[in-house]
Amino acid sequence: MQTDIEIAQAATVKPITEIAAAAGLASHEIEPYGFDKAKIKLDPTVPRSKQLGKLILVTSINPTPAGEGKSTVTVGLADALTMAGKKTMIALREPSLGPVMGMKGGATGGGMAQVIPMADINLHFTGDFHALTSAHDTIAAVLDNSLQQGNPLNIDPRRIIWKRVLDINDRALRHITIGMGGPTSGVPREDGFDITVASELMAILTLSTDLMDLKAHVARIVVGYTYDKAPVTVADLGIAGAIAVLLKDAIKPNLVQTLAHTPAIIHGGPFANIAQGTNSILATKTALQLADYAVTEGGFGADLGGEKFLDVKVPLLGKTPDAIVVVATVRALKHHGGVALADLDAENIPALTVGLENLGQHLLAMGRYGVPVVVAINRFTADTEAEIQTIKAYTEQFGATAYATEVWAKGGAGAQELAAAVIEVADQEADFTPLYQPDDEALDKLNAIVTTIYGGAGVELSATAQKQLAEFKQRGWDKLPIIMAKTQYSFSDDPKKLGAPKDFVIHIREFVPKLGAGFLVAMTRTILTMPGLPKHPAAFDIDIDETGKITGLF
Ligand code: ADP
Repeated sequence: MQTDIEIAQAATVKPITEIAAAAGLASHEIEPYGFDKAKIKLDPTVPRSKQLGKLILVTSINPTPAGEGKSTVTVGLADALTMAGKKTMIALREPSLGPVMGMKGGATGGGMAQVIPMADINLHFTGDFHALTSAHDTIAAVLDNSLQQGNPLNIDPRRIIWKRVLDINDRALRHITIGMGGPTSGVPREDGFDITVASELMAILTLSTDLMDLKAHVARIVVGYTYDKAPVTVADLGIAGAIAVLLKDAIKPNLVQTLAHTPAIIHGGPFANIAQGTNSILATKTALQLADYAVTEGGFGADLGGEKFLDVKVPLLGKTPDAIVVVATVRALKHHGGVALADLDAENIPALTVGLENLGQHLLAMGRYGVPVVVAINRFTADTEAEIQTIKAYTEQFGATAYATEVWAKGGAGAQELAAAVIEVADQEADFTPLYQPDDEALDKLNAIVTTIYGGAGVELSATAQKQLAEFKQRGWDKLPIIMAKTQYSFSDDPKKLGAPKDFVIHIREFVPKLGAGFLVAMTRTILTMPGLPKHPAAFDIDIDETGKITGLF
């Protein structure tokens, strides 16, 4: 059986100029990066003549090590829509190098449903993440320089909240001491690194509507506090302009293609467990302006990326989804039902039935937004017909229909039924109902997410978090949208509670105010913003030969 990279390497690639032209982009609207990649220069604030396309949001059940294939289904569905004669564009996130070198799993789909050039996209691509890392760390360096140069802003080194970032899983950098080496080497203080995808700049890049909007967001970032506890911003540091310069190209969406040549925009990549988990507003808007169907993704499960897409991104996007696709696999559902990874190939209807409660809670959660929901079963070779039928019957109880897809094996040809269903439901009148109103209290927003989306009992705030919330109220920050930073594996904050746990409480240990991005991050339990590498990092299996051929990259 061919690996993902072998399939991608054997693909016929069309020149990106041809893909752009087919997508409706004039030659002056793209900046080619080599043969098969380009930046899009389109100004999305200038409306194109056509109406906005239909917005299709793909999300999934809680992921398990058994695999769900959300990106694979996103790509396969888009190719199926193209095959059905619909002008379609994909809008996906850019992969982070951390997981590429750490836990197996890129972000370009798999099998016959992939975006290419997959190796480039999974590695350095068009340099967006490097630009973000440099921009983020420039803020850190200027901040430390301000301390060194007599501290004119009166910054309290113990109250700095702007860490450094790197797009590598490196647990040894979570807590560090900097400024050692005497008076010429800076002011000693505690610091730490987050992964680049957790950077507030990443959130800003994906939520900005243009470069001037990005600059305004950057200026508002709070980096720490003075000895009098007044917030210090990037505007106070005097470098919002320089940061915008460093991000002037990163803000432009990247254009690539699928194996079947459907145009795909891949741009921005905040993780959904610690940030908002969706690609950029600019990418999604561009796809909506150019295509009749824009297929996009809300990372990890619907509880994280789905909820954040609907409650944080949609208000800024100015377009609500026309259909939501929830991806599930027989294997992952059996794992949610208690089956060990080694036993997932054997038919097990009782365990599947237990695990289906995970899908059920996601259907309740997504169903409440007033947008039609369909289920895509991403078929693996070991799945039995009885298992597929069990999922279909269960899904009917929620007024939704499940379709088995074989996109991994067949590409777009494996999702024709799903595509037809998506076309049909996206034509229905949707009545989008947000989960909360901007003016709701932070505590009410948190409880709405936990009770309605996760099926839990509510939130419990640590003493620190309670104190912070009172402080935010005084500062007028308490009405911002909430980004829940929570494990992706469970509805609860305990990654071991699979399926659909009930009566659980989500513990908020602290809030991280992200004033530049415009939201409050609620850190649950032990969630980390700098991952570590596993015992056997994916990097052990990656190699390149004298001809430049890469192996082992998925
Ligand atoms: P997600 O978006 O949920 O993280 P991906 O779409 O990136 O998942 O897929 C993860 C991996 O699983 C990829 O390497 C892909 O080739 C593989 N995969 C996806 N669907 C299938 C399938 N139906 N059969 C076998 N492998 C699959």
